[in-house]
Amino acid sequence: MVNKIPEELIEKIRTESDIVDVISEYIQLTKRGRNWFGLCPFHNENTPSFSVSEDKQIFHCFGCGAGGNVITFVMDIENVSFPEAVSKLGERIGIHIDIQNQSMDNRIHRYSKKEENMLNAHQFVAEYYHHLLLNTEDGEKALNYLFKRGFTREDIESNGIGYALPNWDSVAVLLQRKGFSPDEMVESGLIIQRENDHTYFDRFRDRIMFPIRNEFGKVIGFSGRILEPKESEAKYLNSPESPIFRKSEVLFNLDKARASIRKKRQAILMEGFMDVLAANKAGIDNAVATMGTSLTKEHITRLKRLVRNVVICYDGDHAGWEAAKRASELLYNEQMEVEVVVLPDKLDPDEYIRKFGPESFVQMIERPHAYMSFMMMYARRNKNFQFENDVLQYIQEVLEQLVGRTSPVERDLYIKELAKETKVSEEAIYAQFRKLDADFAKNYKRAEQKNTIINGPIQPKNLNATERAERLLLSHMLFDMEVVNNILRSEEPQPFVHDEYIAAFVRLIGFYEEYGTSDYQRFLEMLDDPELRRIVMEAALIERDPEFKEAEIQDSLKQLKKHRLKLEIEKLMHDSQEAERMHEHKKALELLQRIIELKRTLSAI
Ligand SMILES: [Zn+2]
Repeated sequence: MVNKIPEELIEKIRTESDIVDVISEYIQLTKRGRNWFGLCPFHNENTPSFSVSEDKQIFHCFGCGAGGNVITFVMDIENVSFPEAVSKLGERIGIHIDIQNQSMDNRIHRYSKKEENMLNAHQFVAEYYHHLLLNTEDGEKALNYLFKRGFTREDIESNGIGYALPNWDSVAVLLQRKGFSPDEMVESGLIIQRENDHTYFDRFRDRIMFPIRNEFGKVIGFSGRILEPKESEAKYLNSPESPIFRKSEVLFNLDKARASIRKKRQAILMEGFMDVLAANKAGIDNAVATMGTSLTKEHITRLKRLVRNVVICYDGDHAGWEAAKRASELLYNEQMEVEVVVLPDKLDPDEYIRKFGPESFVQMIERPHAYMSFMMMYARRNKNFQFENDVLQYIQEVLEQLVGRTSPVERDLYIKELAKETKVSEEAIYAQFRKLDADFAKNYKRAEQKNTIINGPIQPKNLNATERAERLLLSHMLFDMEVVNNILRSEEPQPFVHDEYIAAFVRLIGFYEEYGTSDYQRFLEMLDDPELRRIVMEAALIERDPEFKEAEIQDSLKQLKKHRLKLEIEKLMHDSQEAERMHEHKKALELLQRIIELKRTLSAI
């Protein structure tokens, strides 16, 4: 199945989409020497091993081996097919390509069939809820409520907000009629099975429905808000954990906020999706929220790919303060720059905006507290400096934050401030600090020793001689079609040993038949399997010496032949031992002679 986008257009889009620009929209890159580096979006890491070459217009990760060009990057990160990736890049530079009629056969299946069904069902149900809200009499009450809460029609449309009917089984019936498997739909959280008669009913009834999308913009769950709060029912009901909806990973609005986060070099982290929607209405478009869980390492990994600076804006109540302290420590320990907005009067962001207006909220967001200053505020809460105990406790808590974290200048600054606040002498505070610092250094050393043993850096896979030969041979094949032709005409028309190289070779033959010229970037784009792309990319990147091309090819072929002979000999040895055991002496002797011949050939290579 070959795509039908004209080759010239693909070429134009590829050359006009600068890889550094495109990748920068997804992860933060910094220039080091001739290349750009960042945290790899395809595996979890803390030190950047993902590099982008502006000259060559390719990317490569030294940690996990991912690699490719601008088009395959979009294919991988957005999980889309080749035509979709080209079309997305086209849109960026104002070229519209209609891919409606393109076959979806070459879609990469990163989602399993089951997950795909769940995503389709969610998309379908989201559209159904949205339609009910905007176009039916049943939805009127909910629609009026939203208008009253300050949502415009445009807000409702751009967020896909909807309404679930009070009926027990509208969605259950619809999904079954559409042919979705009831078991899968139960697992996805849209419907529930009754225990007594095993029939199905809708999870969400008579609620305003807010779709939750993953980072690629696909609907993976819902949060349903009750219209008239009752004692017996929670105000918000969220979809349960499912194969497509993992709360420890999802950041609400990340799909829409990504571009703005990148541009502003800052993400606003909130506690609830309603806060994000309120912030959006106030004109803040770089806000995301966790979905009913506290911040996890997985969330931080996703943020870290995009940005270093995170502004936490949680509720102003006690729980909000505690959550903000925990989240800021987590982010701080992950080397992020953390700042914290402290809302007054125990208000949440939504309430604050309604009370003081959007401008005032934007000002709050623009003037957050630095990490240490927030920590001092936190330590000061519920303390009365008239009591000596509270003063000592306060100094202790602030110093604990200072230890091992701050530069000498910052330390000086905060210790001076502490002295002024508490009327305790700077010298006394310093003495206390040095004691804590010594303890910390001891513990830190111990922890670090432990850490290096457990999570040492990922070592690039050590290749043996055979694998090196396969890579070098493939490399020459990628840059010169004649190398492939010569090998096809030789005695050994399939020289590779490992399955993945054989697969890449077969695909390359097909590519040359179709295109008649070498173009490894174009070839990469034709490969729908990321593992094959990895091999091809690595081969394209290694050092070839064009001057010694023939010698390198011959050496590689010899090495591969040796490997095959050794395998053959091993197999014959095994067979011959087997023949001996079965007392088939004649056969064993024949096998032995064959082994001797092969060994002779082997040593002649
Ligand atoms: Zn990687």
